[in-house]
Amino acid sequence: MSKVALTAVAILTAISCTAQERDMPAPQAMLEEIRRSGPPTVSERVLTAMERVARHEFVPASHRAAAYENRPLPIGAGQTISQPYIVALMTDLADVNKDSVVFEVGTGSGYQAAVLAEMVKHVYTIEIVDMLADRAAQTLQRLGYDNVSVKAGDGYAGWPEHAPFDAILVTAAPETVPKPLIEQLKPGGRLVIPVGPEFRTQILKVLTKNEDGSIDTHNVAPVIFVPFVRDE
Ligand code: SAH
Repeated sequence: MSKVALTAVAILTAISCTAQERDMPAPQAMLEEIRRSGPPTVSERVLTAMERVARHEFVPASHRAAAYENRPLPIGAGQTISQPYIVALMTDLADVNKDSVVFEVGTGSGYQAAVLAEMVKHVYTIEIVDMLADRAAQTLQRLGYDNVSVKAGDGYAGWPEHAPFDAILVTAAPETVPKPLIEQLKPGGRLVIPVGPEFRTQILKVLTKNEDGSIDTHNVAPVIFVPFVRDE
C-alpha cells in the first residue's frame, strides 16, 4: 500500500473514533457528576443501573452530543427528559428491588422507565402525548427492554388493571397528589411525586403507605418539573 493510502487510513480511523465519541459519549462522566451532586445523595445501586442505560438513545439526534451532561434536554412536544441527577434521586427514593412492579406517569423519552427496568420486575408507564408514547415504546423495544409496558393516556387515574404497585413515580408536577395513585400503592409502597404550581418551585415528595393504609409524607427537595396536564 502506498504512503498516501496509509495516511488516508490513519486519518479515517481518527475521524471515525471522533465520530464514535461524539455519537456515543459514555455515561461515566455524568455519573461522576451525579455522585458529587446533592444533597440528597443517591445509592451506588441506582448509579450502576444508570451506567447500563444509553441516555443518548433517548434524546433527539440534535442533542445527542449533550446526552451525558447533567441537565434536562428537549424531547419534542414542549417536553423534556429529566436531569440525570433527578432521575437518580427519584429512582433511589422509590426504593425498588428485582421483584418490584412499578408504575410511572410521564413516560416522555422512556429513559426513566429504562433505568427502572434495569432494577425491577416490570415497569408500567403512561404518557399523555401520543407521539411521545409511541416513540418511547419503539426506543424501549429496540433496546430490548421487554419488561416495560407503555400506554398513551392520562395517568391521573393510574393503571388499575396492573395495580397495586410497589412504587409509583410521577415525572410531571400536579398541584395536588392524585388520589387514585395513592389508592394504587401496595402497603409499604412509595409514591415519588413533585407537587406544586406550574413552572414555579415545586416540592419533590415521597408518600409511603403504611400497612394500616395510613400515609406518611416526606418532603425531599425543591424541584421544577413540567406541568401535569389532564385529558379533557
Ligand atoms: N420520565 C420522562 C420525563 C418526562 S417529562 C423521561 O424519562 O424522559 C414529563 C412527561 O409527563 C411529559 O412527556 C408529559 O407529556 C407527561 N405528562 C404530563 N401530564 C401527564 C398525565 N396526566 N399523564 C401522563 N403523562 C403526563
